[in-house]
Amino acid sequence: MPELPEVETIVRMLLPNVEGKRIETAELRLGRMLLDMDPGNFSAALKGQSIDRILRRGKYIVMELTECALVIHLGMTGQLTFSPADYVENAGFVRTVTGMQKPKGVHPVDKHTHLILWLGNGERILFRDPRTFGKIFLVPAREWPKHPRLSILGEEPLQLRIKPFLETRFPAASARPVKALLLDQSFLAGVGNIYADEALFRSGIHPQTPVRNLKEPERVRLLEAVKEVLRKGIRNSGTSFSDYRKPDGTAGSNQEKLQVYGRGGEPCRKCRTPLRKSLVAQRGTVHCPVCQAKSAARRKS
Ligand SMILES: [Zn+2]
Repeated sequence: MPELPEVETIVRMLLPNVEGKRIETAELRLGRMLLDMDPGNFSAALKGQSIDRILRRGKYIVMELTECALVIHLGMTGQLTFSPADYVENAGFVRTVTGMQKPKGVHPVDKHTHLILWLGNGERILFRDPRTFGKIFLVPAREWPKHPRLSILGEEPLQLRIKPFLETRFPAASARPVKALLLDQSFLAGVGNIYADEALFRSGIHPQTPVRNLKEPERVRLLEAVKEVLRKGIRNSGTSFSDYRKPDGTAGSNQEKLQVYGRGGEPCRKCRTPLRKSLVAQRGTVHCPVCQAKSAARRKS
């Protein structure tokens, strides 16, 4: 699933291509991707509006238009690409090792393309989402921060000032496993399974550790690690395991740099111990039993 670094990469790369441009036609091809609105009214609502600004909040992409905001969540497999005027689609398919057919082109328009924004001169923004867990919605004027899905989001981790955050916003008495806290979007916005596992490894904390057992230095180390793994993810243009693509249709490279996520059973890059796979907060979790020993979790609380 695209997390903060993937969505940030998409926004940064889309920005120079789409900001200030006018939406000539909005073509919604799968009505149920749209929330809170009759899909029949969508195209007319967007037609002729300019894209004033594009930004990220948590895992949401917000396009501020002249009269409203178009908000997109990429769900599990969403891709948002910018197809330039001179792009020619290659209609061929390739068969992958799993037997699945995948389109050859980097901006495929196929049955999984659910939204096309035509910008004039043949330029397009394409939203493609094979598993259709993505969401599209419109918020009037500049009200998007108050929308129920966005107003509940916690702080942006990259802007986080650790000391004041620990004093005011950290649930120090919580009995939840620390991994569950990291995945909670009302705690920090944009962290998901990949970067939660990476941050826990980096800070040497076992994912099952109850939050209340974390000592002050561990809390600081954890938040520093969250920021660092997210920054690293952005530097590598995001993690592409299966579906995530940059707006130019190519893959990110952070998957080659991961310490634990997706590496269950493989040797730890630090100590060579086989990494352990488990289920924490209903999510597949990978950690190193040596580098992330369970000492804090066992302490009496
Ligand atoms: Zn290790």
